[in-house]
Amino acid sequence: MKPFPITLTTNDIRTGAIENDCDGLLYMVKFDIQQLKASRRLRWDNDVALYWVYKNQNFTFMIVAPRGLIKEYELVVWNESGNIHLGSWQFLDSAIPSNVLNEIDDVCEHFLNGEVKCGQCGTWVDYKKAPSYFAGVYCQTCWEGGWKEKEARETYE
Ligand SMILES: [Zn+2]
Repeated sequence: MKPFPITLTTNDIRTGAIENDCDGLLYMVKFDIQQLKASRRLRWDNDVALYWVYKNQNFTFMIVAPRGLIKEYELVVWNESGNIHLGSWQFLDSAIPSNVLNEIDDVCEHFLNGEVKCGQCGTWVDYKKAPSYFAGVYCQTCWEGGWKEKEARETYE
């Protein structure tokens, strides 16, 4: 675990303890990062971890504000060390839709039970056994259907 985390839970948002507003969250995160960097003399933004907490387990998350022509917010969740991608959600409104909050709980719950969604078809797979390419984990069908080849090319180029 990183020493200076900023933490958030689905319930913080559901109960209104933290306002459900991505612009506000982004501002808060930026502000907290600056505060932490100043008070702890940290050098990099990267020294501050953003944790989405579910059942006392840390997950890493990121919120991306709309850029250019893409008028969508994006929320991405990984496992704690950030090497396994659990899910990405896009939405137009700055508030995180309740179905997205439910799905975040769902992917965290599955992860605690050893499962993540295949990065291509969405089937639940055992992440400890399934093949992976960068942070994506794939089912056998999708792996054989192209990711295996991609991974091999990456390795030998
Ligand atoms: Zn698949």
